[in-house]
Amino acid sequence: MREKFTEFMVGRYGIDNYSKFLLGSAVTVMVLNLFLRIGLLNLLVLGLLAYVYVRMFSRNIQKRYQENRGYLEFKYKITSFFVKEKRRMEDRKVNHIYTCPSCKQKIRIPRGKGKICITCPKCRTEFTKKS
Ligand SMILES: [Zn+2]
Repeated sequence: MREKFTEFMVGRYGIDNYSKFLLGSAVTVMVLNLFLRIGLLNLLVLGLLAYVYVRMFSRNIQKRYQENRGYLEFKYKITSFFVKEKRRMEDRKVNHIYTCPSCKQKIRIPRGKGKICITCPKCRTEFTKKS
């Protein structure tokens, strides 16, 4: 039986990150729908599962590979956005961002230093702020 399946899968795409994500989504929706009981969501689950199977048994490996790459790029964009936001928020606790009044250059100054004179590194304008 296992050999038959291996033989069947020769030249077919198989499973990838995108399929795993789709499967995970299908299971999540399925579990949620145990409580929500919305008939349309069952259709969505079936659709997702069908799509995963179609991709898995597909012989158009190039196309499936591109889809997976698209998914990974999208995922990377989302996660890096949140990583950047988190870093920015942590930075705001220790640094204050001032904008130069003449050239609008953003300047990062450590907090809690009292009244300070800031010299813009770009246009050399001096201005006083409380940090
Ligand atoms: Zn400036």
